[in-house]
Amino acid sequence: MDYKKLKIATKAILIGSQPDELTGSVIPPIYQTSTFAQTSPGEHKGYEYTRSHNPTRTRLESCLASLENATFSMVTSSGMSACSLILQSLPHGSKILCGDDVYGGTYRLLNTIYNDRFEIKHINTTDIESVKIELNSFKPDLVWIESPTNPMLQISDIKAICNSAHIVGAKVVVDNTFMSPYFQNPLDLGADMVMHSLTKYINGHSDVLGGAIMLNDSAQYEKLWYLQNSIGPSQSPFDSWLVLRGVKTLSVRMKAHEENAIKIADFLIKHPNVEKVIYPGLESHPQHKLAKSQMNGFGGMLSLYIKGGLSESSKFLKQLSLFTLAESLGGVESLIEHPAIMTHASVPVKERNELGITDNFIRISVGIEDIDDLKADLKQALDAI
Ligand SMILES: *Cc1c(COP(=O)(O)O)cnc(C)c1O
Repeated sequence: MDYKKLKIATKAILIGSQPDELTGSVIPPIYQTSTFAQTSPGEHKGYEYTRSHNPTRTRLESCLASLENATFSMVTSSGMSACSLILQSLPHGSKILCGDDVYGGTYRLLNTIYNDRFEIKHINTTDIESVKIELNSFKPDLVWIESPTNPMLQISDIKAICNSAHIVGAKVVVDNTFMSPYFQNPLDLGADMVMHSLTKYINGHSDVLGGAIMLNDSAQYEKLWYLQNSIGPSQSPFDSWLVLRGVKTLSVRMKAHEENAIKIADFLIKHPNVEKVIYPGLESHPQHKLAKSQMNGFGGMLSLYIKGGLSESSKFLKQLSLFTLAESLGGVESLIEHPAIMTHASVPVKERNELGITDNFIRISVGIEDIDDLKADLKQALDAI
């Protein structure tokens, strides 16, 4: 059987989850150990110490590599540690061209932790012509993009950016957390590395932190592994096991997230107290066509502007009973949040306003609950403003 030819729903269940060789246990055991016995000094079964390798994590890594059609995958303790290891792998003085609407934690990491090590420039990556101009004038070593972005859901042409970046010798990293491997595979579009926060859709149950990097270049993989082993952000065996369990339902969950998100977007645009809805699946989305060609679906993230300001937003958020007011996304339960005060508070006000992250802006991670219940809850809260 050529496992590479399997579809994603099959790979998510099968790869890395073969029955335990020792006992036949259908569900692989959790190797909850920090260290491994050696038969004589230096002689072991491939595992020495869990910071370096652990069999449960190895299983998850093989599954995740297969989902992004990658040769290698490395699982880390969080999405941010995955970002950090990629940045650690760059020489001092490197230039990074980064999207202007990236995850708040990525923005903070680049601009308050790595800013004395790298030259960093943020641009809007949706316009390929301006990306090309920056590639030629700034000459970055690394291009960092999210598509769709968080929270504005702007979509960039990954293939075109990779082609242009490679011409000037830059590598491209795509943070694919928002789409998950079910809806988008950046390596297939030419990216050099893909990173995920496993905390979100891949685990899908809001009960684990984790990160992953998927790539095809063996030298870069060795470098990243060396960094992980030296610095230490390896995921614990129990957390790897939970993600291995969660990822099995990735395809059914993503389909359900999308189905609900489409219906909620349609409902919200018709409500008189909603000013604007941003969802890649809407024809009104500025990059709807690109979204359709580049992704296998539109995902479960949706943003909206309600009519009014902070007091209307607060009223609306407090009035909801099925949508939990919380940061994060990608779990089975619906979450709602206020980016200006919550997830994007670390982005300076001026930049936030330029992006459109205003006081009446709200982000929803649409869960997989019954759509009628979700719509009814949104309706009563919007009506109450
Ligand atoms: C959550 C998130 C991260 C960071 O992941 P953690 O697991 O919270 O460290 C990075 N990028 C995106 C797009 C995210 O949503």
